[in-house]
Amino acid sequence: MQAALAFRKPPQHSVPMLTQKKDLRGGTPLWTDSPGSTVRTRTATRHEHCDVAIIGGGVSGALTALTLSELGLDCVVIDRRKPGSGSTAASTAMIQFELDTPLTELSKKIGARRANRAYRRSLQAVKNLKRLIQKHDIDCDWVDRDALYLAGNEMGFRGLKIEAAKRKAAGLPSDYVDAAALRDTFGIDRTGALLSQGAGELNPALLTAGALRAAQAKGCRVYSDSTVTAVKADGDRVELITETDATFTAKRVIFATGYETVAGMPKGLFDITSSWAIATQPLPDEAFWPTRCLIWEAADPYLYLRATADNRILAGGEDSGLTDPARRDAAILVKSQKLLKALNTLLPGRTLRIDYAWAGAFATSPTGLPIITALDELPNCFAILGCGGNGITFSMVAAEIAAAWAQDKRDADSDLFERAGK
Ligand SMILES: Cc1cc2nc3c(=O)[nH]c(=O)nc-3n(C[C@H](O)[C@H](O)[C@H](O)COP(=O)(O)OP(=O)(O)OC[C@H]3O[C@@H](n4cnc5c(N)ncnc54)[C@H](O)[C@@H]3O)c2cc1C
Repeated sequence: MQAALAFRKPPQHSVPMLTQKKDLRGGTPLWTDSPGSTVRTRTATRHEHCDVAIIGGGVSGALTALTLSELGLDCVVIDRRKPGSGSTAASTAMIQFELDTPLTELSKKIGARRANRAYRRSLQAVKNLKRLIQKHDIDCDWVDRDALYLAGNEMGFRGLKIEAAKRKAAGLPSDYVDAAALRDTFGIDRTGALLSQGAGELNPALLTAGALRAAQAKGCRVYSDSTVTAVKADGDRVELITETDATFTAKRVIFATGYETVAGMPKGLFDITSSWAIATQPLPDEAFWPTRCLIWEAADPYLYLRATADNRILAGGEDSGLTDPARRDAAILVKSQKLLKALNTLLPGRTLRIDYAWAGAFATSPTGLPIITALDELPNCFAILGCGGNGITFSMVAAEIAAAWAQDKRDADSDLFERAGK
């Protein structure tokens, strides 16, 4: 039986979109002009066959393309924009195994065993991402970092102590830090914190470009400025049609379309909201906190921060349910001043000025888990949506689960992510 989504030839300027084009970000993200972030791409003009077509050349599509190409699968990546210029360009790229939902909370939502599995899988994904970067010599400013999770209005020091014990029992590398140690070591005045190993930071534009180039070296073809408008799936092959009438035939299709979610994605499991970020001007070394660990807080609204390779502080948060991109972008000035004020309160005595301020669409799910799933209504089609602040960690998890799926295997943790843990 044939399943199809929007595959009637779309009239010009009025197409029933397979994914609705959105204004994914506003303002000026730090990474947009990173030297080395461009990728040689093709323009789709004719018909092409492949094993796997990946729609979306952001970090999810890039890691998936590289993982599948390494397995010897013949892949194409198709993007309506330049690779890495969607939400990936807006990311603050703190790479963590710790999910937005603490382990204690996630255990209540999905059960302790599954929550432990989700956390351990995330930890493994960060390790695997680092390995992939090293293996392919991807120059993306990766640095190993610890992560410091500060007590806040969502979880105080007592809650953090319990969280630390649960994580220890699950084999996760997190330790409780009391207020005195926090003050002495980091100069931060909070009632307590968790300090975790196994995190990192990177430049997401360089990671994406590097992963795509490594995939290209293995035969993957990358198309830009090509919008896929329709898909026909008939059981043993999938046909993709682009805005310019170029077509692709694939054995399998993976939708790594980010927050421009594909029609056919399970409904009611996620919301698309907004988040804001700033980067300061470059600072002297003495302006940084010891170890330059990632810092985030158990608070709402929350602040998170990291250092960059060029000595800036990158901070984000102030998330809201705002969905209108014009209002999201109009709020950049106010939100960036709030982030700066929160930074100044956490790290007093520095002179901090904003060089970059931006906003982006953001996906959340009630569990904080992503949606990584085969699509029920479209045979041989698969979709990836990284929810929450761990989007890039989830991109790596998704690449691995998609790789198993593309080989007719089932990843042992796929049940955790099919419906964001539900
Ligand atoms: C402000 C902000 C801060 C963040 N901070 C962090 C962080 O610290 N750590 C972390 O891990 N994550 C973070 N994230 C989340 C992370 O950045 C995202 O999860 C990740 O970048 C999503 O990547 P993606 O490849 O799935 O999506 P995208 O980068 O948006 O790529 C999807 C691509 O699909 C293409 N596309 C869509 N539809 C079609 C179509 N029909 N035809 C052709 N192409 C199509 C788009 O053009 C786009 O390029 C943050 C996000 C934001 C906005």
